[in-house]
Amino acid sequence: MADPVKAVQNFFRAETFIDVVNTMRDIREVCGTAEHGLAAYEEIKAQTSGFFQCKQLWDLLDKKQASCTTYEKQDCKGLKVLVVGAGPAGLRTAIDLIMQGAEVLVVEKRPYLTRNNVLHLWKSTVQEGIELGMKFFYKKFCAGGMDHISIRRVQINLTKVFLILGGQLQLGVTFNDFIKPTGPGVGWSVDMSYDGDQEELRGAPVPDLDPDDFKFDVVVGADGEATHVGKVADFEYKTFQGPRALGITFNFKNANTVEELTLDEFGIIRYCKPQTFEAVANKSGIELETLTYYRDETHYYVMAATKDSMVKQGVFKENLAEIPDLLQKENIDQAKFEEAAQYIAEECGLPDGLDFAQNRYGEPDMGIFDFTKKKAVTHPCKILEHEGQRLMVAMVGDALIAPFWPQGTGGNRCFLGARDLAWMLAQYNLAGPATAPMDSILKIMQDHELTFRLLQESPDSLMNDLQLSKLPKDKKRGCDPSTRYLRYPGENAETNLHPQMRHR
Ligand code: FAD
Repeated sequence: MADPVKAVQNFFRAETFIDVVNTMRDIREVCGTAEHGLAAYEEIKAQTSGFFQCKQLWDLLDKKQASCTTYEKQDCKGLKVLVVGAGPAGLRTAIDLIMQGAEVLVVEKRPYLTRNNVLHLWKSTVQEGIELGMKFFYKKFCAGGMDHISIRRVQINLTKVFLILGGQLQLGVTFNDFIKPTGPGVGWSVDMSYDGDQEELRGAPVPDLDPDDFKFDVVVGADGEATHVGKVADFEYKTFQGPRALGITFNFKNANTVEELTLDEFGIIRYCKPQTFEAVANKSGIELETLTYYRDETHYYVMAATKDSMVKQGVFKENLAEIPDLLQKENIDQAKFEEAAQYIAEECGLPDGLDFAQNRYGEPDMGIFDFTKKKAVTHPCKILEHEGQRLMVAMVGDALIAPFWPQGTGGNRCFLGARDLAWMLAQYNLAGPATAPMDSILKIMQDHELTFRLLQESPDSLMNDLQLSKLPKDKKRGCDPSTRYLRYPGENAETNLHPQMRHR
């Protein structure tokens, strides 16, 4: 295949991680782009701009890139970044960094995209998605009554943007640990392993994981709520009390029949619609606090339920005191759980006869999750220092602050937090990561910590939209936090926050 346009069309159509990566490799081969980074993007653009569809996307991305930098272009040029995790947060961060000229490698241990579950999106996140080509890749993006997108779909689309811009993605690769510099001028590296036995990787080339080939200035922990990067870099977390309820999600197949297309989406809380919750409880036996339905690629339901009612209904085989024990797969009566889910969906008007959508293991795509205890880092970034050499480690997404799904804080805070981090890293790079006096680096980290406090306070769509509407109209939203947070205090803010330092 020697036609760049055909190669790009195949890439646009790709639906799995591995197909996205392989079709990108084809584009690079056809276009003869050996390099990674923005130079590769420019080369691909030059060879495909004659094709209308490509030109549309390139124009969109160019515009986004131009809005990315407030100083001279490419504030992150020369910065070598490893992003651990190709979830929404890691990919969104990677895109902002590469747009600013950084060299970015994303590693992802799971080579599959199976999360049908749906993210609720705030208006600002929808806008951000449109600017990044979400509608280009997925015409139905936020076209319905409520704004949402499946996690899988966000991952596919962001991966495509990241790769087009010249990013590198390695699948089946797990980050294990940091490797200290062995002497002056050697640089920080990381220990990673490859699990090529996973079915989705069949036929994929084995990545070269020689630590000598990987020297980084920055490692971004975008590895989700159970963060391993956070653990090995010894980040401190504080636990906060979430709602005293368990989270339930389930997905039914969406055949897009007329009957299904007329289903209304909704998000309700108990005290606003007590009669609906009573009807659900009467039918299913499950007492709910919140209930949300989205008609996405699946019919997706997310809710907060009382533990007691689930125990009473027999969803749990044993009423174990510790929540993690209670939620063990072996302790869940799958038949009872499916029955309750079907009753709830029925009461919400789902037509009869629809099957559960399936997860990666061919099982009904449903889950019970613990929302009662949530974690957030005390400091969002830190510097590891050894032999006089620095490595910035920074967290983003669920690894930074765990979400409460029914409020949709996860996906939206991913996008906001990714931009905050990219901004901080641009300042870090402009200061000179290896040589800047530690005081000036600490100031940059402190500013980032202030932004993190604002991120934590951004509670929901309404508040966020309200805040943004109050920002000066001439301030176009960009990486700069002052364009995204009303209460951002600016450069000269006094702070008594102390980012952690750590010597290894
Ligand atoms: P994630 O999306 O969790 O991505 C982290 C990525 O890092 C994963 O792909 C993981 O494989 C990878 N990774 C982890 N460790 C390593 C390592 N050591 N090396 C390499 N890669 C690694 N939110 C909602 O709003 N509604 C929902 O219904 C909902 N359902 C969810 C269901 C599940 C099973 C999970 C895990 C999360 C769900 N969420 C939901 C949360 C939502 O997915 C996140 O808020 C959102 O995806 C942002 O996540 P992230 O990018 O920070 O992390």
